[in-house]
Order: sequence, then structure tokens, then C-alpha cells
Amino acid sequence: MDYQVIRKPKTEGPQPEPQLPAPGASCDGSIWQALQEELSWLPGGFLNKAHECIDRHALGPLAGKTALIWEGKNGEIETYSFADLKRESDKFANVLLSLGVEKGDRLFMFMERVPELYIAFFGALKVGAVVGPLFSAFGPDPVRDRLADSGARILLTQPALRRRIAEVLPDLPRIQHVIVANKGSRDAEPLLAGDLSYEDLMSTAPVELEIAKTNMFDHSVMHYTSGTTGKPKGAVHCHQAIIQQYATGKWVLDLHEDDVYWCTADPGWVTGTSYGILAPWSNGVTQVVYEGGFKASAWYEVIERHKVTVWYTAPTAIRMLMKAGAEVPKHYDLSSLRHILSVGEPLNPEAIMWGLPVFKQPIHDSWWQTETGAILISNYASMDIRPGSMGKPIPGIQAGILDDHYNPLPAGRDGHLAIRPGWPSMFRTYWSDPEKYNSRFRKGWYITGDRAYCDEDGYFWFLGRTDDVINTTGHLVSPFEVESMLLEHPAVAEAGVIGKPDPLAMEVVKAFVALKDGYEPSDQLRREITGFARKKMAALVAPREIEFLPSLPKTRSGKIMRRLLKARELGLPEGDTSTLEED
Ligand code: AMP
Repeated sequence: MDYQVIRKPKTEGPQPEPQLPAPGASCDGSIWQALQEELSWLPGGFLNKAHECIDRHALGPLAGKTALIWEGKNGEIETYSFADLKRESDKFANVLLSLGVEKGDRLFMFMERVPELYIAFFGALKVGAVVGPLFSAFGPDPVRDRLADSGARILLTQPALRRRIAEVLPDLPRIQHVIVANKGSRDAEPLLAGDLSYEDLMSTAPVELEIAKTNMFDHSVMHYTSGTTGKPKGAVHCHQAIIQQYATGKWVLDLHEDDVYWCTADPGWVTGTSYGILAPWSNGVTQVVYEGGFKASAWYEVIERHKVTVWYTAPTAIRMLMKAGAEVPKHYDLSSLRHILSVGEPLNPEAIMWGLPVFKQPIHDSWWQTETGAILISNYASMDIRPGSMGKPIPGIQAGILDDHYNPLPAGRDGHLAIRPGWPSMFRTYWSDPEKYNSRFRKGWYITGDRAYCDEDGYFWFLGRTDDVINTTGHLVSPFEVESMLLEHPAVAEAGVIGKPDPLAMEVVKAFVALKDGYEPSDQLRREITGFARKKMAALVAPREIEFLPSLPKTRSGKIMRRLLKARELGLPEGDTSTLEED
């Protein structure tokens, strides 16, 4: 088969050499052994992500180097050196100790992208707590579910977000302390009774701290991710993941000492944590955090103002930049950009081709998941890109394509994308659901839930999901979670949710709804249910479309047949309907 190939053009001026391991580098696990030695470790062989990302730099020649350039949504700019982040996170760790937080306790953060989030993230790791960042656009229901499931003891939030979830906090008796950070809160109100002020706590916190002796298998970070059945599951990562986050920062993001790096993802999703916190800082690199949302001109401005050199973003964002037009970027100096990457959804070849004249270089796709903790398949800076392909497995990773019995298939055949377990950033459990965790492993492989094929040259090509999980703007949405929420509306008797293809967002959430007796379909009711969903969940995951049906197709055991709803929506063959319950 002939593939189109794009080679990164040589740009003017000195370019750093890509930091790939030597050609032919071992693809077995021994490569990780060598990398472990590039980290500092704590005396006695202990490992802590906060030490690797912050303290080791703050205690060495990089102490005064800018670690964080923060640009607030109102244009404020603050900078923090590695020494600043060490001091502040040591203080926050002491705050947590004074509140009785112990190793293994869960601290969740429901925050915008403000410096306090990053400081608290490391402070919590320094006392051995497990950190769970939540997406700040969530409504009360997803926040309640995640806090309840994780048994979080501490919640760090901000005034407006605190107000948004006020109604569900009484359902969460295991939360012992709500800490409210006032950053950027022009609408600041007096604290509610029982809440603690971040600023007050920090103002008296001691600076001296002895970091917790966490070992490499101690839990450190958890992210909830969507499946097709049941509520989202908390994928738990260990401190050991830093080995691979560091390695992929070097190999895939191609981070070098003088880079200014910008990851556009929110830490509520795994990319914003693994690559918006851990990878750049474990590499001692300066990173930009932009609190604002998407706006083409504002994004180009961020690149120009901070002279961003390495940029990690997502296909939907690139498609939105395309939509804004090729004229807009001409008003900005984007010449600082040296390397551009994308993740979260298939990067369509049109997006790469559009980016070539705009950025004077191709965008590099990378593939991974919440469960994998770090990039596993990617296009390296030094590699010829085949537009539309996710690239090749990184050294140390063995990826395979399996048939339905989980046996390997040869090149060119479609099947389950699977990975040989044991990579350092692999998730170690789903919180309180070991059965579900075990179900992800078959015949010595981790089954990713994606369908793909591998060509004769070892490039992997994404084909779709093997389940009903919806990917909207790079965020996985559980149809079950949306259906459960819709059923809480007084008019809804049944709900079935599918992903409907969309040129911009890849998929949008579409809900089919059967109404209870006494309710009639109307535009008014459709708007009301949409508003209800947006308030309870988040605009992002709430159904974009609602269609009323007299009843929904179900199996004889009563399960809504989403597959059939989708086939009917797309005008595709209905497939096997032998289990369909006749009305
Ligand atoms: P999450 O766990 O939320 O990070 O989502 C992971 C899922 O996003 C993967 O299992 C894929 O379905 C999808 N995904 C991530 N990266 C890519 C990519 N480069 N190409 C296609 N799909 C991707």
C-alpha cells in the first residue's frame, strides 16, 4: 500500500537534536531501568512525583528558572520559579498535615487552571495523598459521583465552583474539609460556615517540610474515565508513572532545556495532568498555563506572547482554528513553534495539511488513554509522518492487534488494539473495582477498547472504539452516565444515548428519550431537558440533540440497544436484532 509521507522540514537556525534513544534501542522493559537512573529518587530508594518535578530542580541549578508562566483569563500574568513552587507546595503540604491528612487519603480539586491548583497538586503528593483533579466545567452530578466513589477527604475549590456544587456537598459526609481558594474571585463572598480559606491557611503554614517516603507503587493520582456500563471508574496511577511521563516528555514532546511548552488540556482530564504538569516539569522545562478557554486569536496570542516552542493540543482545537480561517494566524508571529503535537481523537490528515503552511511544520499525532498514564504510540519529531496514522509504539512498548479471541493478527488486519502490560505509567487499579480492572486484561494483553490496524511498516491506524463510549472534542463520555442523569428528569421514562458523528467535535452526544405518561413531546420540553442536563453535568457532555420516541428498542433483558439506535440514526444496517424485545 502507498502512504503519503510528510517529513518535518528543516527550519533555519540551530535546532536541538531529537532526544530519541539510539536506533535499535531495546524494546524490552530494560529501557525503563536505564531511565530510572535519570531521575533523582529520594534517599532510601523512595520515589515521589513532586520531588522529581519540583524539588530536585529547586534544590539544584534550576532553582531560579521559571517553571510556570500563568496567564489568567483576564490577562493577568504571574511567573513562578521552581524554588517558588517548592516553597508554596511545601507550605500546602504542611497545611494538609495540620488537617490530619495521611498517606493514601484522597484530595480532590475542583478548580480552574489557577496556580493554586498546581501548588496544591504537589503539596498533596508531598504528604503521600492521592490527587484527583476534576474538570472545572462539570455540574454537581459528576462531581458528587466522583467524590463519593473515591471517598475523598479534602476538596479544594473556588467560590463560584463551590456555589455550583453546594447542593450535593451534604450528600458527601466523608469530605472533612472544603478549602476555598480565592484566586481571581472578584465575586468573592464570605466563606461558608465550616469552609477553610486557602489564603488564611497558607499565610501561617511553615515552610520546612520532610517529603513523605512514598515508594514507586504508592498511589499518587487518579482520574475518572468513562465506560459503557456503570458510572465512570477511577483509574489510579502510582508514583512510578513519572518514569514514563519524564521519558515521553523527552522522546515524544521532544522537550529541551530552553523550551517554552504549552499544553492546552485541563488537568481535569489526564492529558492536563500527565502532560500539563508531570512531563514538562520532570524535564525541568518552563511551561505556560493559560486559564482562558478557546478563542483562535487568544490562542495565537499566547503562542506569540510567550514564544511557545513546543505545543501539545487536540484535533478539535485544530479544527476550530481551521474554522476561524487561515487569515487569523497571519496576524501573529508563530515562528517560535518548533514542535506541535496532538492527542485525544484521530488527527485527520486535512488538519495536518492545513497546519503545514500555517505552522511551517506538521502536527504530530500521539495516542494514549487515561489508563495508560502516558503516551504509548506516537509520531516522533524525527519520524516521517503518515497523515492519519497515530505513529509507532515508543521504545519499551509492545502494541498488538488482536482478533475477538485475543490472538494476534498480522499486519493490515483490523482488530483490538492491545498492549503488553508492565509499562511504568500503567494504571494499577480502578478505585474499589478490581474486577473491572482485571477484565481489561486478556491472554497477557491489556485491551484498550480501541479498534485499529498496524501497517507493514509498524505504523498504527485508529479505526474507532469497540464499545459505546462517546468521544466528544477528545473527551470520553459514558452513555450510561448521561442516561442516568436524564432519567432523573420528571418527564423522562427511558433514555438511550449515542455518539453522533460531527465534523468539528468528532462526535456529539445525542439522546433518544421516551416520555412518561402525561408528558407530550414539544420543543419547550426538549429545551427544558437540555437545560437540566447542562446544569447537572456540563455543557460539554450534555446531549446536543434530543429526539423523542414513543419507546426505545430494548433487549429481552431490558437493556436499551444503543447499537440499534445508532444504526438507525446513521441509516446503517441494523445487524443482529434477534435479542430485540418486540413491543
Ligand atoms: P481518555 O482516556 O479520556 O484519555 O481517552 C482515551 C481514548 O481517546 C482512546 O482510547 C481513544 O479512543 C481516543 N484517542 C486518544 N488519542 C487518540 C488518537 N491519537 N487517535 C485516535 N483516538 C485517540
